[in-house]
Amino acid sequence: MNDILPEQTSVWQWVEGVAREILEGSGYGEIRLPLVERTDLFCRAIGEVTDIVEKEMYTFDDRNGDSLSLRPEGTAGCVRAAIERGLLHHQQPRLWYAGPMFRHERPQKGRYRQFHQIGVETFGMEGPDVDAEQILLTRRLWRRLGIQPVLHLNSLGTPACRQTYRAALVAYFSEHADQLDEDSQRRLQSNPLRILDSKNPALQSLIEAAPKLPDYIDAASREHFDGVCQLLDDAGVDYVLNPRLVRGLDYYSRTVFEWITDQLGAQDAVCSGGRYDGLVEQLGGKPTPATGFALGLERVVALVEAQAPERVPAMAPDVYLVHQGASAQRAAFTLAEQLRDGASALKVVVHCGGGSFKSQLKRADRSGATVALIIGETEAAAGTVQVKPLRGQGEQQELPAQDISREVLALLGRAPAA
Ligand code: ATP
Ligand code: MG
Repeated sequence: MNDILPEQTSVWQWVEGVAREILEGSGYGEIRLPLVERTDLFCRAIGEVTDIVEKEMYTFDDRNGDSLSLRPEGTAGCVRAAIERGLLHHQQPRLWYAGPMFRHERPQKGRYRQFHQIGVETFGMEGPDVDAEQILLTRRLWRRLGIQPVLHLNSLGTPACRQTYRAALVAYFSEHADQLDEDSQRRLQSNPLRILDSKNPALQSLIEAAPKLPDYIDAASREHFDGVCQLLDDAGVDYVLNPRLVRGLDYYSRTVFEWITDQLGAQDAVCSGGRYDGLVEQLGGKPTPATGFALGLERVVALVEAQAPERVPAMAPDVYLVHQGASAQRAAFTLAEQLRDGASALKVVVHCGGGSFKSQLKRADRSGATVALIIGETEAAAGTVQVKPLRGQGEQQELPAQDISREVLALLGRAPAA
């Protein structure tokens, strides 16, 4: 579990802000969900024989003896809320959420025990349009952020065709059981589709030759998938048809997708999603088609840092105010308030904690500020301020305090407020 420090939060805030703008801009409304749910909800939603439920959840009994778990993902809670809060009656909600998720995994680069997702879920829309819409939303986000993950796409068909496919897989892998590793041996009985997800290099050629899901899907699902591909083609989206993409969770049906990168080592999935038409009913709601995705913020942030660090807006202050002596301090505080009143977006830091001019100016420089404003006793008495550009444009000059706002905005290349 990580601390995210101020020097990192600038990227986080930017990514979150752009995502929020794009989602709200397409009619998605934010839903804020609890971090804790009944354990049973996750068992039913995600599936008893998934890695998450089998070994990754933080589960505890509360004071009433109820078994609760920290949420390992957002979809289950979102579906619960949609059912309980009546969001599904004659409505087609488009929802999004952001926040921490918890999984007791082996920590490594790009894999943490508390990580953060932005997730999206929609309910009540069964056509391929909304599947395509969500993929387009994510593409828009990557474009704005300046990153280039690759889209992998597949269709899982209906649960019925997955059963047939599952049987074919079990037959195939049983024939080659001696070549399977321990994990895959276990999955052969419990969740054979997960074998396809295995990252063990020794298994890759065996997996390559396994029966392929697209050969097993039904006509209606095929048509749905063609509809998704058509809309993506129209929008000029590049994608890889990946018959091995099956996703780790039980609840998916039909369209599944993943945005993948080769920049982050083994942790290559940046964003994953798809359709889960059976889940609402499975959790006690009336049958309701649904689609969603979740992106991993740590991985998106890492990708931005690798591919487009120059796009991240600077968080440095515009102005750093340096002062010495009692009357200078009062003048500095008055001036800072004036500057903040004059231009609300201006970032103004007033030095606190004393120290020589020299040490204060060092701090001003280290803060990354564009301009230092300096007030000593002489300036305070004369009602002036020394204006010192810190980023190499122009000489230091002394100006009347009342002209400072205009001068600072000019130095920052901004127009004064009307
Ligand atoms: P992976 O294959 O990497 O384990 P997953 O299939 O378990 O991913 P999902 O449950 O689909 O992942 O979650 C959606 C996204 O959340 C992933 O694409 C990934 O970016 C991110 N994610 C999942 N688990 C972690 C984790 N432990 N640490 C950081 N990010 C994660
Ligand atoms: Mg995982």
